[in-house]
Amino acid sequence: MAGRVAVVVVVLLTAIAIWQTRGTGPDLSRVAVVRSPEGIMGTTCTLVAVVPRGREAHAQRGLDAAEQALREVDALMSTYLESSEISAVNRAAADELVSVSEELASVLVYSRDVWRASDGAFDATCRPMIELWRRAGREGSLPADAEMDAARESSSWKDFELLDNGVRKAKDTARLDLGGVAKGFGIDRAFEAIRAAGCDGVLVDVGGDVRVDGVDARGEAWKITVRNPFGPKPLAAFGLAAGSVCTSGDYERFVEIDGVRHSHIIDPRTGRPAGSVPSVTVVATDAMTADAWATALGVLGAEGLDRLPTGVEALLVEGDERSCRMITNREMERRLGEFGKPPCSE
Ligand code: ADP
Ligand code: MG
Repeated sequence: MAGRVAVVVVVLLTAIAIWQTRGTGPDLSRVAVVRSPEGIMGTTCTLVAVVPRGREAHAQRGLDAAEQALREVDALMSTYLESSEISAVNRAAADELVSVSEELASVLVYSRDVWRASDGAFDATCRPMIELWRRAGREGSLPADAEMDAARESSSWKDFELLDNGVRKAKDTARLDLGGVAKGFGIDRAFEAIRAAGCDGVLVDVGGDVRVDGVDARGEAWKITVRNPFGPKPLAAFGLAAGSVCTSGDYERFVEIDGVRHSHIIDPRTGRPAGSVPSVTVVATDAMTADAWATALGVLGAEGLDRLPTGVEALLVEGDERSCRMITNREMERRLGEFGKPPCSE
């Protein structure tokens, strides 16, 4: 009896193997375990762990850890939460030593590095300017030049001392905003948590910024589609075996004053919202790099392409609905290949 069962099992397995190698049916050996937790960084979130069938419990544990990692990063780095470490730094008086977690300390050091590398375009100390423009949006009137100058002068990296055990400010008014980088850091943490659970494929998507590795449930590379800020047709689509794609755009988040849209990205050099770059997409190995540089290029435009770290790819849309153009660096050009550059108004 046992022998017959074994024979039947072998025949069945052989049949499945033949069926799969002939490619006549879907690959059923893997399963995607998907979760969409709510309340993550004020946006949508999708976590996917692709595992061999039967290992769903491992996947669930990975997703638990990923969800927890994202909530922890939010709790440390969100300026929307009074209880966060970043809010404690922002409230602190001059010369007070504020102790911070290793996570926050590492994001601050990284942010200061990108500030230098981007020639000041990516500036996590620009919180007073962000608050000024958000208030202007709520009140519906442009800030006065004197207010812009004051906001610009009230906070800069020279007013922050990053120490091993904490942060010290030189001025009461110096304040930080990690809105351009914390999401990327959180995505990386979540990604590592899922990968540590032993998966064939991982996808972390927070508000359209993603990091992937391995394969999807069909055993294929993850498909990435880049949204067109001006039309329904995607700007680009490509397969990605491993890496991160982050987009920064002013078509979704902006401040409107007298019918004019102002970007939520501030040009720290002028104290005014950045102009002319409706959408920037950056591909990098990790999400913190892609996130920070997408914001930096939102300020610098195509001129910033030369400043990108080696191997980082970028696709920018400049102009407006009537007249826009797509600009890519060489690395991105190679990735897009035949897909080429469709007119962005299509
Ligand atoms: P999102 O992906 O949420 O749209 P981005 O990655 O585009 O965000 O970053 C925009 C956010 O970064 C702003 O909402 C603000 O919190 C912060 N920010 C704005 N201007 C700058 C800047 N020049 N440098 C660093 N951070 C900035
Ligand atoms: Mg960003």
